[in-house]
Amino acid sequence: MTAALEPRTVTHAAPLPRASPPRTRTGSMPATSNRTRIAWVVRLLPGFAALFTFGVLARGGFQALSTVGAYELAAVGLTLAGLSLSAVRRARRSASGVPALLRDELELGGCVLAFTFAAIALAGERSYPVVYLLSAFGVTFFSRPAAITLLGAAVLFDAQSTLAQRPVTFVWHTLFLAAFAALYHAVLSGRVAASRKAEDEAVKNRLREVEERARTFRLATSGSQDSSPSINDKEKWLLASVKEIEGALGAALEIAEQALHTHTCAVFLLGADDRSLKLHDCRSASDAVQRDRLPAGEGVFGAMLKRGQPMRLSSPGGVKGVTHYEVGGPTPCALLAVPIMEAGGLVRGVLVADRLAAEAFTEHDERLLTTIASEVLRSVEVERVMGYIRKARDEKDRFFRAIEELNRAGSPDQVFLAVLESARQIAPLDFCAVTLVTDEKGQRMHRIARMTGVTAQGRALEGKTFADNNGLVANVVRYGAPLPGREVVAMDRQVIFDGDTQVRGLQSLKIFPLVAGDRILGTLVAGSRKRSAIDGEAQRMLEVIAIQAAQAVLRAQLFEQMERMATTDGLTTLLNHRTFQVRFDEALAAAKRYGRKCSVILTDIDHFKSVNDTWGHPVGDLVLKGVAKILKDKARDTDVVARYGGEEFAIIMPETDTKGALVIAERIREAVMAEVHQSDQGPLKVTLSLGIATFPEAAQDKQTMVDLADQCLYFAKRHGRNQSVTVAQMQAGKRVAG
Ligand code: GH3
Ligand code: MG
Ligand code: MG
Repeated sequence: MTAALEPRTVTHAAPLPRASPPRTRTGSMPATSNRTRIAWVVRLLPGFAALFTFGVLARGGFQALSTVGAYELAAVGLTLAGLSLSAVRRARRSASGVPALLRDELELGGCVLAFTFAAIALAGERSYPVVYLLSAFGVTFFSRPAAITLLGAAVLFDAQSTLAQRPVTFVWHTLFLAAFAALYHAVLSGRVAASRKAEDEAVKNRLREVEERARTFRLATSGSQDSSPSINDKEKWLLASVKEIEGALGAALEIAEQALHTHTCAVFLLGADDRSLKLHDCRSASDAVQRDRLPAGEGVFGAMLKRGQPMRLSSPGGVKGVTHYEVGGPTPCALLAVPIMEAGGLVRGVLVADRLAAEAFTEHDERLLTTIASEVLRSVEVERVMGYIRKARDEKDRFFRAIEELNRAGSPDQVFLAVLESARQIAPLDFCAVTLVTDEKGQRMHRIARMTGVTAQGRALEGKTFADNNGLVANVVRYGAPLPGREVVAMDRQVIFDGDTQVRGLQSLKIFPLVAGDRILGTLVAGSRKRSAIDGEAQRMLEVIAIQAAQAVLRAQLFEQMERMATTDGLTTLLNHRTFQVRFDEALAAAKRYGRKCSVILTDIDHFKSVNDTWGHPVGDLVLKGVAKILKDKARDTDVVARYGGEEFAIIMPETDTKGALVIAERIREAVMAEVHQSDQGPLKVTLSLGIATFPEAAQDKQTMVDLADQCLYFAKRHGRNQSVTVAQMQAGKRVAG
């Protein structure tokens, strides 16, 4: 694996075999052999022109303007053409951000030098200082190898023309040339060092700034009460700090990108198994940075992670073993990778910087990137902590929302729904149920009030009642503590409700008692297909939900009970007189609004006083209950049956005319007459008289309706009891009577 890698540092002096892309050299048309030939001529022209001019000079050309011949003119022409070609090539390269090749630099410099020496030969010895200026130019613009080569060429050429005749002049020329070059080099290096120092300073300042923000963040989360005036301000401050911290990684990468002039600067973090690296963040001019997981053991990263030390690589042909780009992505010529390492030496990932140009990273760059790597580590850590804080905050938010929801729920059914919803918000539950303890004829039973998820049989269990057995729910109610105590292995064999009901596929299960004061109202059953889903924090929160749920259930039950007491009659469980009035108002209003009929029946048990007198009050009560039940059974679902008072009942019959009401009235009367009430003193029978009034023909308001029905009832009493009388019958009777 490491054999595939380049040596640690490869300099620019390495051979330059890479052919330039044909598109930039030959235009976008397809290459033909002719074009290839022309391309070769163009490619070789600058070098040839320089060498040709030097040749003409060496053979004594360019002595005076008057002696300029065909060779000289050809040399000048070729050199100018070569000069233009290499200048254009250089300009194109720098425009596309690709550094000049040594060959390009030598060709350009060679042409300039040849042209200058030709001009000096023509103008005379006095113009030689132009070469000194050229040396300064070379040192400034060319790479060191190119500048040294060109200086050497100038000295050599000067030697061949001057050394033999004027050795002292040659020495002076050489000394001055060297002095100029050295001086310029010194000035340039000084300036580069100064700007690097300024850059370093800027980087340090930026890092200090980031650290300062991190400190602010830590202060903000330390919870010091006196540092901020109000909770609201503190929240805002905290949020701002969090944002800053979140931006810190980006800032660190930006610093690296700017300070090191990188093409890509990226953070790859190791996965939990240490086998793969995943891009965490990056600043890149390319969009081909690998976003999928990449093997941590391969290529440059693999070697670097193995050594645990920074790696610097550069090769003009492209660094080998680069894995952080997708296939077809760029090939960097310089790469610097440093490990992101914790204080204990544990490697968390890689911070990589690369350049497309073969501009090798220096030791100084390495130190800088290592410093930034420690900043990156801190940011990654903070992000992790932030993630944790956010998760905890979200959990708490959900928890409090759940509690609020529970407190808002009014009816028992709303409470059950809210309990299930709340529980599912707190843990990833696949099965959830609320059971209630019920009392049936003195026997404790359990009822599944609400549930989500299905059983092994694929049916929902809502409404199912089961006996107080040895299942988990019954035991939770019995002992008032959550069960099972610890994780159970054979979860499928657990009896949660009763033997008939199996819940399969759960990996974790917890049943909490719903405790309100000293009463256990039921249980909250929570199950998940995930192992350890109801552990630690989730369990604690579910326990609180269960306590709140118990309170809510109790409240809802009490509320329902109170409502029942306020609206119903305790003896007969029919609606009471007050509710009758309210419901009759509503029924009449609806009948008026929609132009419908509405009838009312008033009933009174015949000679009830004598029942009481003969059989006693308790038997009287028994008869009342029996008659009430008949009324309830014989009336339709849409009818409203109420105890009007004493042994008088009333039935409101929406959308019912007199005929319809009479049918029901007769059915009731006959049923009451037929009913045998079994008392402990023997069987007894009663009869019923009924009066019927219908809206709108009889009356338009409630009171008149009731009065008319009452009059009908007394008409029935007066005419032998045990009969139903309508307003029309009564009025006809009156007329008859009258
Ligand atoms: P009538 O046929 O004319 O209606 O004769 P009645 O004896 O039924 O006379 P009335 O309707 O005036 O009698 C009402 C009696 O109902 C008086 C009271 O003792 C009895 N009563 C009223 N409420 C209750 C009750 O809650 N329980 C019992 N056992 N008796 C009641
Ligand atoms: Mg009465
Ligand atoms: Mg009566």
